[in-house]
Amino acid sequence: MIIAIDGPAAAGKGTLAKRLAVKLNFAYLDTGSLYRAVGLQMLRAGLDPSDALAAEAISSELDSSLFTDPDLRLETTASAASQVASIASVRVNLLNFQRNFAGKPPESKAGAVLDGRDIGTVVCPDASVKLYVTASAAVRARRRYDEIIARGDSAEYADVLADVEARDARDMGRIDAPLKPAEDAHLLDTSELDIDAVFSRVLAIIADQHLENSNDA
Ligand code: C5P
Repeated sequence: MIIAIDGPAAAGKGTLAKRLAVKLNFAYLDTGSLYRAVGLQMLRAGLDPSDALAAEAISSELDSSLFTDPDLRLETTASAASQVASIASVRVNLLNFQRNFAGKPPESKAGAVLDGRDIGTVVCPDASVKLYVTASAAVRARRRYDEIIARGDSAEYADVLADVEARDARDMGRIDAPLKPAEDAHLLDTSELDIDAVFSRVLAIIADQHLENSNDA
């Protein structure tokens, strides 16, 4: 069983996906970290994240040690990730990794939860449950700003909002695998919902879907 969760930056996908994976004892893949790893490697090599040939080469030999690098979470890395993510050959290189994970989850788990931007539309179009999690840009920027302050870094709310909006525009406007809800995705606006409310809604959606699938069988 595959659960696909898509949506824009800071909508709460990651928290939801991790919690679901624990509850269901499924494997979890944060697909954004793959794009972030490529972006970070480009920045560290002094390369321009829009350099398609260099990004293609780096994404063809993904350095998995970067998945746990604290710099992966920096806003500069997020921005580089969204630039490399608009390069078609980078997306092709990362597709196999994601499909393998979904098709054969590690530790022989019975299912996988993947979160990203194109999981329900491109990576796993046959996922059993598709969710599109969103919230207003102002709410997402506020959450991201609070996270930055909570970890002791400094930021201006206006800059965080501008980053979120720029990333939305790039992720939704790109030609290859743009961010959009799959036709059969359940839409969840978390602007006015806390994580517990979102989580219980999603469990109800999964239970309904499960019932539908068993009735079809
Ligand atoms: O989810 P996260 O903010 O870590 O993703 C970083 C960037 O990676 C996104 O802004 C997006 O451009 C890209 N991404 C993508 N497709 C995915 C996951 C992330 O294009 N499935």
